[in-house]
Amino acid sequence: MWGPGALLQGGLAFNPLYGVGITSLIAIHEAGHVLACKFYGISSEAPVFGGAFAYIKHDVPVDAYKAAMVALAGPVVGSLGALSYAGVGYYMDSPILMDLGGTGLVLNFMNLLPIRPLDGGSIVRAISPALTVGFAGASCVGVGALAVSGYTSDVSLLNTALLYTEIGLVVGLGSIAAYNIIKKTEVLPNKYFRIGFKRKAGLFAAYVASIAAMIAAFGFCRENSKDNLDFKQAEKLKEQGKLDEAEPLYRSALEVRERVFGVEHKKTLLYVSVLGLLLEEQGKMEEAEPLYRRVLEVGERVFGVEHENTLNSVGNLGRLLWKQGKIEEAEKLYRRVLEVRERVLGVEHEVTLIYVSILGLLLKKQGKFDEAEPLIRRVLEGRERVLGVEHEVTLIDVSILGLLLKKQGKFDEAEPLIG
Ligand SMILES: [Zn+2]
Repeated sequence: MWGPGALLQGGLAFNPLYGVGITSLIAIHEAGHVLACKFYGISSEAPVFGGAFAYIKHDVPVDAYKAAMVALAGPVVGSLGALSYAGVGYYMDSPILMDLGGTGLVLNFMNLLPIRPLDGGSIVRAISPALTVGFAGASCVGVGALAVSGYTSDVSLLNTALLYTEIGLVVGLGSIAAYNIIKKTEVLPNKYFRIGFKRKAGLFAAYVASIAAMIAAFGFCRENSKDNLDFKQAEKLKEQGKLDEAEPLYRSALEVRERVFGVEHKKTLLYVSVLGLLLEEQGKMEEAEPLYRRVLEVGERVFGVEHENTLNSVGNLGRLLWKQGKIEEAEKLYRRVLEVRERVLGVEHEVTLIYVSILGLLLKKQGKFDEAEPLIRRVLEGRERVLGVEHEVTLIDVSILGLLLKKQGKFDEAEPLIG
């Protein structure tokens, strides 16, 4: 059994419990192989652990069917073990145990990839030696794509390192598979593969069913993990307006994510943002502020300053500071978003205009009427062009401009606008 597949989870926190837990999960997987060897009377040795992987040495079974059954027993027993971790974690309220269960399922799933020397390679080879070639290629591409899609939106240094580890693993396994095929390292007699159609069909069904069951079990584990359950409950309470009851649940969901995924993971950051929004809604501005600042700071580093997520974080912090009366800092933040929006979306874009309008209001609020006027005129022009002169949103902007002109003492200009 090979371990680094667990990295797919993307968030193994540096908790020593994980080391112990994963080693025990690997041992359970190997126990499956040993039991199957016993069942078929194949002599085997105790498992050898080597860093991120482990294997057992056993005699060559008499045919490919027995070899496949011995191979299948590892992931099947291993998954049952992982599932029991998740179950115990669920009832004991231990998020780490639950996450270990999920990680164990991913590990065992990875071992079913049809690439020798993984277990899946032995199973598929028994069904059809030719099939291994196609499957090996396809699964290399698939795992590579999965790894890339999992990380491209979240490219902190650590995750980049994990990504390269995974790609290296896939390329490495693919090369071993190719080498085995080309060099025919294991020359086995033809009769080794003559195991009959019924057995092949049975193996194929068991292989596909095992994969499907693992994916379903993994989905169930994620769905019912403590962070997800608490978060869902919190959302429900928030919808009912019970903000004070929702808060501790959001906090506990966040705490789990920090522990399981780490403080900089995008899944964790999402919860920080959501908690910030709740606190803002509760009027706890001082508590919300450090959360928004944290999301922004990590976002700038992880996603970059022009990323959509980062721009939204800037907007959130700006709004909060405005509400707190920290107008000057808010102005700076909105100018920053506006500058990017203008450059990326263009000066006339709808979204750009929203920021022009916010900045205009912010300047008006500070009494910087002369600076606000061109911005509010620009918004009004955009509204007239897009929505038409009679639209109610346009009319609101007309009256905003009117009030501004009045404050500037430009009564003649203001009068036709506010009537
Ligand atoms: Zn194995």
